[in-house]
Amino acid sequence: MITKRIKEIRDSINKDVELVAVSKTKSNKEILEAYNAGQKVFGENKIQEMTEKYEELPKDIKWHMVGHVQSNKIKYMAPYVDLVHGIDSLKSLKILNKEAKKNNRVIRCLLQLKISDEFTKFGLSKEEIESILNSINILDLMNINVAGIMTIGSFTENMDVVVKEFDKTKKIFDSLKTAFPNLKILSMGMSNDYKIAINHGSNMIRVGSLIFGKRI
Ligand SMILES: *Cc1c(COP(=O)(O)O)cnc(C)c1O
Repeated sequence: MITKRIKEIRDSINKDVELVAVSKTKSNKEILEAYNAGQKVFGENKIQEMTEKYEELPKDIKWHMVGHVQSNKIKYMAPYVDLVHGIDSLKSLKILNKEAKKNNRVIRCLLQLKISDEFTKFGLSKEEIESILNSINILDLMNINVAGIMTIGSFTENMDVVVKEFDKTKKIFDSLKTAFPNLKILSMGMSNDYKIAINHGSNMIRVGSLIFGKRI
């Protein structure tokens, strides 16, 4: 089933869209099934769980942290993480830079844009993102590479809401890119809305339940 789902999703998307298989709460066995189907990029939302999986699973897997990043745990993923999606403060960026430096690495990350109105969501406004990007230049943080932005659409049955949010995100992304051309990645779209996201310029989708089944 996992193999079939991976193939179906891959066949339905363009080559320039990166599929991140979100494997949080799923077993090594399930991850290996996806891996054997050719999937090499996996996303997790808890640093400890991701680190355990990193230690046990093949070393050519690229691990993405898609959840909210707690700054005190950054050190545990700094030796190996490939991309950190959910950065939403300059403080976390500075810690990420420090830990990356200790490991002699440059770590790629994304800034999280808050696009939905739900107040529980993490993330930054467009203005806050601009201010952080300007600070990075000033502070000369050499061990991080802010490669783009990520966003999470509203959890709603009403897809018109999601269409509006993704449209707005694309416009913000394009506008940020003119001032900061290093921004290349737009991480947007999950199981329920990845098709809409791709139609609105997403080039990185984070798909969990559609591949692995519901999380219990
Ligand atoms: C869990 C999660 C996903 C995957 O969600 P599905 O609806 O299962 O595809 C994607 N992005 C983030 C940030 C997540 O936490």
